[in-house]
Amino acid sequence: MAFTAGSLLREAGRKLADAGFESASLDAQILLAHVLKRSREFLLIHSDVVLQQQEQAEFELFVNRRLAGEAIAYIVGEKEFFNYKFKITPSVLVPRPETELLVEHTLVFLQKVLQNISDEQQKTIRYHDTCTGSGCVGISVKAMLPLIDVSVSDISKDALAVCKTNMVAIVGYEIPYFESNLLDAVPGTFMCITANPPYVSTDYTNMLMEKKLKEPRIALDGGVDGLDFYRKLIPDAYKKLQEGGALLVEIGEEQALSVCEMYSKTGFTDITVYKDLAGHDRIVFGVKNEVLS
Ligand code: GLN
Repeated sequence: MAFTAGSLLREAGRKLADAGFESASLDAQILLAHVLKRSREFLLIHSDVVLQQQEQAEFELFVNRRLAGEAIAYIVGEKEFFNYKFKITPSVLVPRPETELLVEHTLVFLQKVLQNISDEQQKTIRYHDTCTGSGCVGISVKAMLPLIDVSVSDISKDALAVCKTNMVAIVGYEIPYFESNLLDAVPGTFMCITANPPYVSTDYTNMLMEKKLKEPRIALDGGVDGLDFYRKLIPDAYKKLQEGGALLVEIGEEQALSVCEMYSKTGFTDITVYKDLAGHDRIVFGVKNEVLS
């Protein structure tokens, strides 16, 4: 039997809503748009389009994967972040909208550094994004500030493979990358370092794993209190920052106090916490300023 886009969307939307998915109709639209290689807008305008049997079957398969808990980004293989399309596989975390805030504050800091300096000098400004995963933070910054010297790192080879595809698709070429536990294998010093490290407690990660979203544990599990990676990263980054350089990290909403304490014990100044759109503490910023301190 032939079905129209509209009727299939309604049926899938109902199934997903009944199963408790909050974004049921949006999910159904994204999945059907992906099957038909069309935009969501097209589907809404042309809800009378009749699907081929094969398209129907593929859509049903996708809806069932979603019903089993898999993240939409893994089913369609991509996610929009900072207006760029990132390829996403279960080797990397699905980029979150709140992580765009890390990009925004990094750009604000770097733009101040770049003020009033020549293009030639801009090329010597070094910025590094560790725990890069899909590369969403580092690649977005490079795309916005193409002159500066950007590099990225991740401990996972599989994540770096995804990241390399995204570099070529978004920046046009591969930017330097390192397979590294945090900054261990990353050479040189930097004016800015960013990280969205795993910061979810092991207990909570176990719960997330049961939801079968298929996100990699290695990108989420930050140890018993979720803070393990900050304990190493904050002092390591301090050593690799130039005078006046900044470290920006994403944090879990209850971690601001502990992370700020680590920043200040390490010697950082100008320590600032930024909230996300939901009002949760999300980004910690600090500057290495040995002359003043
Ligand atoms: N924000 C993510 C979550 O709550 C975690 C991201 C991370 O650990 N860096 O699932």
